[in-house]
Amino acid sequence: TPLDKIRNFSIIAHIDHGKSTLADRLIQATGGLTDREMSEQVLDNMDIEKERGITIKAQTVRLSYKAQDGETYTLNLMDTPGHVDFAYEVSRSLAACEGALLVVDAAQGVEAQTLANVYQSIEHDHEIVPVINKIDLPAADAEKVKAEIEEVIGLDASQAVLTSAKSGIGIADVLEAVVTRIPAPKGDATAPLKAMLVDSWYDPYLGVVILVRVMAGVLRKGQNVKFMQAGTEHLVDRVGCFRPKIEQLTDLGPGEIGFITAQIKDVAQARVGDTLTDVKRPALEALPGFKEVQPVVFCGLFPVDANDFEKLRESISKLRLNDASFSFEMETSAALGFGFRCGFLGLLHLEIIQERLTREYDLDLITTAPSVVYEIELTHGGGHIELHNPADMPDPTKIASISEPWILATIYVPDEYLGSILKLCQDRRGIQQNLTYVGGRAQATYELPLNEVVFDFYDRLKSLSKGYASFDYTQIGYREGDLVKMGILVNEEPVDALSMIVHRGTAEVRGRGMVERLKELIPRHLFKIPIQAAIGGKVIARETISAMRKDVTAKCYGGDATRKRKLLDKQKKGKAKMREYGSVSIPQEAFIAALRMG
Ligand code: GDP
Ligand code: MG
Repeated sequence: TPLDKIRNFSIIAHIDHGKSTLADRLIQATGGLTDREMSEQVLDNMDIEKERGITIKAQTVRLSYKAQDGETYTLNLMDTPGHVDFAYEVSRSLAACEGALLVVDAAQGVEAQTLANVYQSIEHDHEIVPVINKIDLPAADAEKVKAEIEEVIGLDASQAVLTSAKSGIGIADVLEAVVTRIPAPKGDATAPLKAMLVDSWYDPYLGVVILVRVMAGVLRKGQNVKFMQAGTEHLVDRVGCFRPKIEQLTDLGPGEIGFITAQIKDVAQARVGDTLTDVKRPALEALPGFKEVQPVVFCGLFPVDANDFEKLRESISKLRLNDASFSFEMETSAALGFGFRCGFLGLLHLEIIQERLTREYDLDLITTAPSVVYEIELTHGGGHIELHNPADMPDPTKIASISEPWILATIYVPDEYLGSILKLCQDRRGIQQNLTYVGGRAQATYELPLNEVVFDFYDRLKSLSKGYASFDYTQIGYREGDLVKMGILVNEEPVDALSMIVHRGTAEVRGRGMVERLKELIPRHLFKIPIQAAIGGKVIARETISAMRKDVTAKCYGGDATRKRKLLDKQKKGKAKMREYGSVSIPQEAFIAALRMG
């Protein structure tokens, strides 16, 4: 395709403003799928995505559109993930485009969650086309929303396209706007090949599939290509695009987006942001912006039933085929037996993997407290260790110093919720760097220890701001801190899955919160159960679960032995699986719930 007939764009929106619905309409309108093939929300094809309404992996579709000028254009539509855990993927997808559609709900108006993406889009020099969606709603007020876009984002919204993705209004106008307002890509077809690796995933039939944007030169079937960051070479055996069905091609020229396969076995060899070039005629420099993504949050995953260990190993290995950003290695725990220590990009990433293991592979799991990576300097020239697991914390007398990772967080929030958000940041040991106001919204930047963010910061931020606050962060390196290991004891027995590393200054609050929640989560037994939080031998918080009254136990546990046996068997098979600690049964859900701070 000649360059001037190509348009590459992404869609950015606050969640639920209609991004996926609009994408589906655009595919439908350009004949990518017949009405019958048009299942709801084609782009979000993983079950979890559908349920959570988030897009985990970026997806790209090529559309052919005959414009009003009589010419046929090739439009590449890229869907982007919207969560901070996947910020780097978003950034690469945006770097592959020249423009973006900014979808705003006509009844809700501009919401803070879109801002981080809009600013990223502006950073990539995108032409941004505002699309005001859901104009069919009685509460729609397009004029008001236009004014908001101008005031809050500073974009000219006079030419905003008005749509109802649901009823199909304005879809033709969106396509026309893409052609007339988003610039065509640039790139020299005669230059040495430079293609950006935008995404990669494992397909059971095709092997590792690599999504690329060609910046210069031509990528051909049968070509030997070099991955400049990885330093590996591969033979391209397939070139194509998604319409959204697969279409095979012979090559991809400059400005084009498509996929290749090259008999690559492992997604870890195809890292997002890498540059592909021709082995025979290589480019001198790789494209800028490559970043090695490292897991930042670690936790243990253990099967509830020890017999499921092998199944867990297989399932984790399969998931890892498709996601090189998570890591795992075997781990053993006195209380939990054999399991895996896994590393993730963030908490949402952790939850997604955990949920997929539970749902797609039918595994019951215990997740231990998430932890960041600590750097520990040992005494007497003992050297330096990286701590991924609080259980491996050396004896305090052997520790010279502990450092923890810090982040610089940028938070956008409507003024009315600012007070509670600032308090949240203070409570999490945040150091305010800046505070500015734009049109009824505040932008606060804070330095925060990542440790204070991984548990539930994002959830708290959302609930305190009724969903309006948005949050983005970058890591800014390690700093020494007064950090200690806090253990949890149930009926005098340590539960290592719940031990965590905390700052001494917040240990008591954390410890008290934890024992109070456990008191709610652990069912009563026939005896009294003390629950304690302790640092070393010193108890810093304590609660007691009182014993069950006789008449209640009679009701619960009465009846003959066979009935009881049946009940126990049923419990074993069902969801209500328990773990025993010091003869106390702790329901599986309690582990995860206990780790969420109140
Ligand atoms: P996303 O989170 O931005 O991808 O949003 P979705 O495309 O999943 O849409 C969120 C909800 O809004 C769904 O229930 C859609 O059916 C609905 N929706 C999308 N577009 C429109 C529209 O134009 N009008 C109305 N009334 N509802 C819409
Ligand atoms: Mg969506």
